[in-house]
Amino acid sequence: MANRLVRQRGVLYSIAVIPLSLFLLFLDARLWGVALGVAVLVGTARHPRLHLLSLTLAALIAYAVGYRIEFITNPEGGFFYLTQWSWLITLSWIIAVSQGVAVVGQLDPSGKLLTKIIILSGGACALIALLQGQWLGVLFVIALFVILLGLRASALPPERWSRAVGYGLAIATIVGLVKTTASVALLAPLIAFGLPFTSTLSIAYRVSFSWLDELPFGRPRVLLFVYGLSAYASVLAFLATRNDREALAGAVGGGIAIGLLWWVLSRLPKTTAAGKRFVLLGTPIDYVTLDEAVQRIENFLEARMPAIVCTPDTTAIWRAQRDHKLREVYHEADLVTPDGTGVVWAGRLLGAPLRERVSGIDLLEKLFSRGRVSRIFLLGATPGVAEQAARKLTERYPSLQIVGTHHGYFSPHENEHIADLIEAAQPDMVLVGLGVPRQELWMRENRRKIRTAVLMGVGGCFDVWAGVLRRAPRGWQRVGLEWLYRLLQEPRRLARVSAIPLFLGQIVLVKLAQLLSD
Ligand code: UDP
Repeated sequence: MANRLVRQRGVLYSIAVIPLSLFLLFLDARLWGVALGVAVLVGTARHPRLHLLSLTLAALIAYAVGYRIEFITNPEGGFFYLTQWSWLITLSWIIAVSQGVAVVGQLDPSGKLLTKIIILSGGACALIALLQGQWLGVLFVIALFVILLGLRASALPPERWSRAVGYGLAIATIVGLVKTTASVALLAPLIAFGLPFTSTLSIAYRVSFSWLDELPFGRPRVLLFVYGLSAYASVLAFLATRNDREALAGAVGGGIAIGLLWWVLSRLPKTTAAGKRFVLLGTPIDYVTLDEAVQRIENFLEARMPAIVCTPDTTAIWRAQRDHKLREVYHEADLVTPDGTGVVWAGRLLGAPLRERVSGIDLLEKLFSRGRVSRIFLLGATPGVAEQAARKLTERYPSLQIVGTHHGYFSPHENEHIADLIEAAQPDMVLVGLGVPRQELWMRENRRKIRTAVLMGVGGCFDVWAGVLRRAPRGWQRVGLEWLYRLLQEPRRLARVSAIPLFLGQIVLVKLAQLLSD
């Protein structure tokens, strides 16, 4: 029944789109080429090995029938004519956008995220085309929307059609001379979701190389991000407008960039799925839902088994790659949950069956509400905050007994005293809120001294419970922007969250490496 309905809706959309397509084809015969390109992409969608080849072929078809980026607007006035580089820029643009849209398609198998992004991007393109009186561009985008709705209605998985839709969108920006403005409009929603190739495009305009040396992430990787992914559409576009010597230098630089790309790809940390854990850029993550994680902690408590629980987010995973001690704690921990939408998306993109985000605070609140844990010790945050959190927690969860608190700004020689304090209080569970990586290292160092309890790293939870910080609303959490909400409250976190686009870039590289090695 459901299938029949889906089919009927599919037929209805096809009926709507056929006359529209025929009308468009009549107006612009080049669209036959687009249809052919779409057919190539849809036809090869199920064969990952052919993706790059089919994309290149589809982009070549578009170029051959006449969709070309021949100049781009110079922000200082006038135009940059791309002359002999036009083909390279056009192909790169079409391939990058199609592939970018396909990557978004993989993040959310339901296709909802993709539809939203395309509606935003396409809507922006249509508006610009409308303002410029480019009717063909407007019609093109409308046709794309109708096709998209039809595809959604047909319940086909996004990986079958996302590349083709990205292809259409890329060409829509070329149609009707909207070019640079439309390109920016197209990029805006993608940037909002932190897609690395877009962020690197903007980095490429701003970066000066001496500055790169001062970054803590290692020059080759940053160079890779700047060149490896963005050189196509931006750096070469500028070089191409200069003289031949500079263009030659650009080509040599591009060659070196490709070499670097291979070098870095071959050295990326392994991401493997084995048993119940998934290793994401060197950090293991358990495949657990919130309920399962709560159950695991209850099991530890019942068995009186001392255990370490960690909830790394993207910035912690990024950090663990450079901090072997932190990484070791994650490997030794008894439960590691994916704290944040970014981690879940990254895991899913790389093939891990992560079902939902399990943040430390949700995990604890669920655990407390079930009433099976009673004796808790709070260690961390600025003086007074843990006590305030303790008061609020016992009001909310009357069965909870806070058996002790201590602030988190103590010196190493006070540690012995704190461990004794905790041991004497005999808690079932110690929540350690010292921030990453201090809390993980503390748990590892003290797990033997505190023999009976479950130790859990909780980051800034005490600040939230005490009311010092506000938690992001659900909507922000779901779309992966919890970090932004927190950044607005604590601007000092800027340096830490600046790793997020790099993390995402790295994930895309690992995905690329996966595709290449398949
Ligand atoms: N914190 C602490 N001792 C320290 C550093 C941090 O108790 O030496 C506390 C800080 O007051 C905050 C919590 O650790 O309550 C979380 O810090 P941050 O936001 O840096 O870490 P994250 O939650 O990102 O791990």
